[in-house]
Amino acid sequence: MESDWEPVSRQRMGGWEKKRNARNDGWSSEARSYDAGGWKRPANQGFGREGALSFQIDTKMVGFVIGRGGSKIKEIQEKSGARIKITNEDYQFSEVKIFGNHSQQQNAKHLIDEIIENYQKEQGVYLPFQAEPEIKEKEPEIFIDWIALREQAKIDIAQKWAALPPVLKTFYVEAKAVSLRTDEEVAQWRKENNDITCEDLIEGGKRVIPKPVQTFQEAFEAFPDVIAAIEDAGFEKPTPIQAQAWPIILQGYDLIGIAQTGTGKTLAFLLPGFIHLDNQPIPRHERKGPGMLVLSPTRELALQIQEECSKYRYKGFKSICVYGGGNRKEQINVVTEGVDIVIATPGRLHDLQMNGIINLNSLTYVVLDEADRMLDLGFEPQILKIFIDIRPQRQTIMTSATWPDGVRRLAEKYLKDPMMVYVGSLDLAAVTSVKQTVIMIEEKEKRAFLLKFVESLKPTDKLITFVSRKVIADDITSDLCLRYYYADSLHGDKEQCDREQTLDQFRSGKLQMIVATDLASRGLDVHDVTHVFNYDFPRNVEEYVHRVGRTGRAGREGESITLFCRNDWKHAAELIAILARANQEVPDELVQMAKRYEGFKNKKAMEKRMTPRQSGGYWN
Ligand code: AMP
Repeated sequence: MESDWEPVSRQRMGGWEKKRNARNDGWSSEARSYDAGGWKRPANQGFGREGALSFQIDTKMVGFVIGRGGSKIKEIQEKSGARIKITNEDYQFSEVKIFGNHSQQQNAKHLIDEIIENYQKEQGVYLPFQAEPEIKEKEPEIFIDWIALREQAKIDIAQKWAALPPVLKTFYVEAKAVSLRTDEEVAQWRKENNDITCEDLIEGGKRVIPKPVQTFQEAFEAFPDVIAAIEDAGFEKPTPIQAQAWPIILQGYDLIGIAQTGTGKTLAFLLPGFIHLDNQPIPRHERKGPGMLVLSPTRELALQIQEECSKYRYKGFKSICVYGGGNRKEQINVVTEGVDIVIATPGRLHDLQMNGIINLNSLTYVVLDEADRMLDLGFEPQILKIFIDIRPQRQTIMTSATWPDGVRRLAEKYLKDPMMVYVGSLDLAAVTSVKQTVIMIEEKEKRAFLLKFVESLKPTDKLITFVSRKVIADDITSDLCLRYYYADSLHGDKEQCDREQTLDQFRSGKLQMIVATDLASRGLDVHDVTHVFNYDFPRNVEEYVHRVGRTGRAGREGESITLFCRNDWKHAAELIAILARANQEVPDELVQMAKRYEGFKNKKAMEKRMTPRQSGGYWN
C-alpha cells in the first residue's frame, strides 16, 4: 500500500500565507479546535474535501508516527486498510489525512492516537497543545477609594501652603462721595459708560457689588502714591472698566472683565495689583519669587503690558517680560536676580517653571489676560501646569473680549466666587468711534482696490491692512514698497526681534503702514492708527471687531474699510448686525447676500431632513 507521507513531509511550510494554502480543506484556522485528547481538529467536521479524515498532530510526533524507515505508518496502513498522508505544516503542527472508508479511517486514527499516547506516557511529557490550560489565579480585585484619596489630596494641598502667611486682599475704603450716590445714579452712570453691567457669580446668596468710582481720588484715596503715578501719566479720569473694576479688585474679590484692548483694562488690573503686592505680610525682599503674574497670549501683548507696567515705576517694583522668542538667557538672569512682577506667555513661563528657574509659590496676585485668545492659541495645558504651583488663596483676575464656553470653563477652574464686569454688550461690543465701510467686491479686484485706496491716504495717516495669510502679507508689502511706501509685514513667521522692530517703527512713524495677519489684531496698542483695511475678511466677526478696534483708540476717530467677497457670505448677517449696532451704513448687496445665504442654509437643512428619495439624491 502506498503512502505519500514521505515527499509531502519534506515540504517545509513557511509563513502564514503558505499555512493558509496548506489548510485548503474548507475550514478556517479559527474553526480548528482541540479534542479531548489534545488533538487539533476541525471544529465542525472531520472530513476534508477529498473525503479524508484530517486532523493535526504536534510536528514533534511525526517521526514517532512514521517510525524508522516508515515502519510504523506502514503497519498502521496495513492494519487499518487506510491510506495516510502527513503534511508538515510548520514547526508546531502537522496535518494528518486518512483516506479510506469510515471504519478504516477510525481504525487508523485510533492506532495513531495509541502511538502518541504511549510515547507520552513513556516520556512523561505533555506536548504543547495537550498541556492543561494554565489556570491563572484570579488576581484579587483592588479597591481604590477615590473619595478618600481626593480628601487626602485636599489635606496635602492645604498643608503644602499652610506654612505661608495669609494672603491679604482687602484694601478698599469706599469714598464718601461714592457712598452717597444712589442706586439709580449708579445705574445711570453704568448705562452711560459703555453700558457696563455687573454680575456676582458666587453661588447662593449674592453680595453687594461695589459702586463704581468716578475719579482716581475716589478709587485710591488711601494710596496717594498711586494717584501721583496716574497723574504723571496725564490721564483725566478712569475709563469705564477701571471705574468699576478697581473697587471690586481692591475689596479682594476675584474678577472677570469682559472688555477689549483699548478700554484701559491693563491699568484696571495693574494698579490694584501694585497695592496688593505692596501690602502682603512678607516684605518684598524676603519673598523667594515674584508676587504678581500676568499671563498673556502673545509676545506683543506681553511686551505692551510690561511697557505699561514700567511706566508707573510704583515703589520701584521690578518687572520682567518672559516670552518665547525672546532671549532666554537674559530672561533667566533677570528672574534669578529677583523680580516682583512677571508678565509672561504661557509656553516660556512653563519652560522656566519646569526647569526650576522660577518659583511660582510666592505668587499671590494672578492675571489671565485675554483668556479667549489664550484658548484660541491652545495654551490651556500650559496654564493648567502653571496653576498647579500657585497658591489657591491667590487673588485671580481674568480678562477676555468674549465669553464663550471655553472661557467660562477656565473661570470656573481658576477663579473663586468672582464678580464679573461686562463693558459693552455681552456678545460683541460694537465699535462706535470708527466709521466702518464695507465694499462688495470680486476676489480678483481686491489688490487693485487696495493700491488705489493707499494712494488716497494723507502722509499723516497710519494704516494696518489685515490679510488671512502670511504669504499675502509679504506679497502686498512688496507691492507697497515697490511703490515707495514705508510699509512692512507683521506675522508669525517673522523673528520676534523683527516683529518688535516693525511695531516700534510703526509706533514712531518710521513706517506708515503694516500688513498683518490676525496675530496683530488684538492687543496692538498703537494710538494713532487712522485706518484699518480688511483685505481678507477674518475667520469670524469677533476678529472683525478686534481688527476694527485697532483704530479709533483713546477717544480718536478712525476708519475701517472691509472688502467683502462672495466667499464671505456666511458672515454677512453677523456683520450687518455689528454695522447696525454701530449706526453704520449697510450696503444693499450685503443684505441680499445675507438673505441668499439664509435661503441656502434652509435648503441644505431641508435636504438633510428629507430622505434621499425625496431630495432626488439617489435617482438623478
Ligand atoms: P489697554 O486697554 O489696557 O490696552 O489700554 C489702552 C490705552 O489706554 C493704553 O495706552 C493706556 O495707557 C491708555 N489708558 C489707560 N487708562 C487710561 C485712562 N484712564 N485714560 C486715558 N487713557 C488710558
